[in-house]
Amino acid sequence: MKESYTTNRFYREFLYPQLPVAAFLSLLSVIVTLGGLVMPWGLKIIIDDCIPQGNMRTVALMCGVLLAILAGKFLVEFFRDLISYRTVETIIRQVRERAHGHLITIPFRESMRWTTGECISRLVSDTDALNRFLVTALSDFFTAVVMVVSILCIMAYISPKLTVIACLFFPFFIIFYRLYSGRLKGNAKNVREFMAHITNSITESFQGIRVIKGYGLYEKVRSRFHTVVSDYMNAAVQMYRTRTVLWLTAELIAYSGILLLLYFSVQNIFAGTMSAGGLVAFYTYISMLFTPVVHIISISNEYHEAAASIDRLCELFSIMPEKEEQRHPAAAVPFTEEIRFDRVSFCYTEGVPVLTDISFRIRKGETVAFVGPSGAGKTTIVNLLLRFYLPAAGMITMDGVPLSSRPLEAYRQLFAMVLQDDYLFSGTIRENLCYGVSGVTDERMVAAARAAYAHSFISRLPDGYETPLGERGITLSGGERQRLSIARALLRDRAVVVFDEATAAVDAEVDVLIQNALKEILRGRTSIIIAHRLSTVQYADRIIVLDRGSVQGEGNHAELLRKNALYQRLYEGQRV
Ligand code: ADP
Repeated sequence: MKESYTTNRFYREFLYPQLPVAAFLSLLSVIVTLGGLVMPWGLKIIIDDCIPQGNMRTVALMCGVLLAILAGKFLVEFFRDLISYRTVETIIRQVRERAHGHLITIPFRESMRWTTGECISRLVSDTDALNRFLVTALSDFFTAVVMVVSILCIMAYISPKLTVIACLFFPFFIIFYRLYSGRLKGNAKNVREFMAHITNSITESFQGIRVIKGYGLYEKVRSRFHTVVSDYMNAAVQMYRTRTVLWLTAELIAYSGILLLLYFSVQNIFAGTMSAGGLVAFYTYISMLFTPVVHIISISNEYHEAAASIDRLCELFSIMPEKEEQRHPAAAVPFTEEIRFDRVSFCYTEGVPVLTDISFRIRKGETVAFVGPSGAGKTTIVNLLLRFYLPAAGMITMDGVPLSSRPLEAYRQLFAMVLQDDYLFSGTIRENLCYGVSGVTDERMVAAARAAYAHSFISRLPDGYETPLGERGITLSGGERQRLSIARALLRDRAVVVFDEATAAVDAEVDVLIQNALKEILRGRTSIIIAHRLSTVQYADRIIVLDRGSVQGEGNHAELLRKNALYQRLYEGQRV
């Protein structure tokens, strides 16, 4: 579901609040710029006035005054830069927080469309483009405009005629710069793309290291990596070549102008309309024009990149978070009777039905298992039950109230999930167990771990409950992960448990431990088991057999073995 998040709203939310600071920074920029312009004028005074007088004291006085002004300028510049970078980084932090917060609340259907790379690119590269633009806009652009205007005024004061000649060079310079900078932008885009290929290639090499080692694919992987780094190298060399040509030619144009002006100004000196100090000051000012002019010209490039990034961020913000989908949330109602699927149909992709006309009920306190061949739609039922997705047709109700009119967060609080590849965050075992549950005492945590048959293996770890998991921590076996995940669910003590049985077989001893842990968590709770291996169906009060998205049978183990051919096949298939 989408609502329009306009660029105007983006500006209102993130940029406008910083306008007072931006105004203050502009004021500081004017001071800094004017402070930087005194040096050539000081030089003019020394050459034209002090040197002819032969008075060293006035030279010393002049140097002292210039030093004081420059020191003041550096101090103001220091504070301006500090405030400016802090302001920009604050905006970027707010945008990143907002984008990240948004990404984790948008509906599954929307987020599944995006690859990890796309999400990262929005949170990192797009915000970076915004960062570059804000830095340029806040600090450089305004300073550049003030500087160009002030320099042109001073130059016009020294010699109006030479200033007009200097201005004639600007159009050539601008046309050339824009032409080449467009080419440079294309080169830079290539370089970024090839860099992304390198990153992907490195990630693949690490993720697929078992396959690479197992099948001895070293040469193949090396040669693929050689191709991507070579592509990157060629693109980078091309970019540097364009950049060098751009800068050198720009300088050549600038120096041609300067030399032409030199010719005319010497004419002026001979005619007595310009002093030697005026000439030195004029050239120093004109050489100071180069950088700010480039900044002013390139601001539009930065702006276009930032505008494209803002558009992409607005596209993300336009996706409505799940919570807001409900316009009139009903008050939280406890689960007292039953969950019901009533003629529910669903598809992930338009035209490819995954569930067709499914109806069943799960009464409070019951344990219901879903069985069926792989791809039958078992996990999809849980996805709909937890409202990760909405049904295409039919209705899911809890105690007669449609799920769509229950407050989503309160509704999900009814469920504890033990998924087959449950995510463990990087952090200690304690953090993983207690994440999101407040005020857990050590006794409660250990009791939950004991009940889940996890305490003994945790105690054997070098740091017990403080052992770190994740990328830089230890790796747990499938069986251990599942028991940890049961302990995590036990600590949350929810009314309904969803247990997604692991597809991978574990050895008999571990299987017994998991079954025991499972009995603990099923006790007294409504339970939904996705049985991939049928090893847990013995605990179910009722088993629902699914095949290709529809219900093929329902009953207990004995009944189904008697009358349901598919169930018999599944059961026989797994006994061997
Ligand atoms: P089961 O849990 O019974 O193995 P699932 O519910 O996971 O089956 O999948 C049912 C069907 O839906 C399968 O054909 C699967 O390929 C498809 N499917 C599952 N998740 C997605 C998804 N995110 N996008 C598109 N198709 C999906």
